[in-house]
Amino acid sequence: MRPKVLKSSGLFFFNKNYFIINLMPKIIQQRTKCIGCTACAGVCPEFFEMSGKDGLANLKKSKKVGDDFELEIDKAGCIKEAADVCPVQIIKIEN
Ligand code: SF4
Repeated sequence: MRPKVLKSSGLFFFNKNYFIINLMPKIIQQRTKCIGCTACAGVCPEFFEMSGKDGLANLKKSKKVGDDFELEIDKAGCIKEAADVCPVQIIKIEN
């Protein structure tokens, strides 16, 4: 019998009958391309803040993956607004 696929928002579970796909949205910020305009922090302070060190935006609680910063979240919240206002389009949301 083939396993059934169940969709979830945060769990990954597997056994011989079921597996659940992790559908937590992931935010990706290509920080090296940030121009420090402050727009993301303005519309979405829950997730973005400006760095006092280099003046670029930090994606709060994110982890560095290669040149980018990534964060898995339960709800997108204001992230879409931040992605929309970013003039260099370096904030991505992956579902
Ligand atoms: S909106 Fe984009 S360019 Fe502006 S500070 Fe945020 S990440 Fe950087």
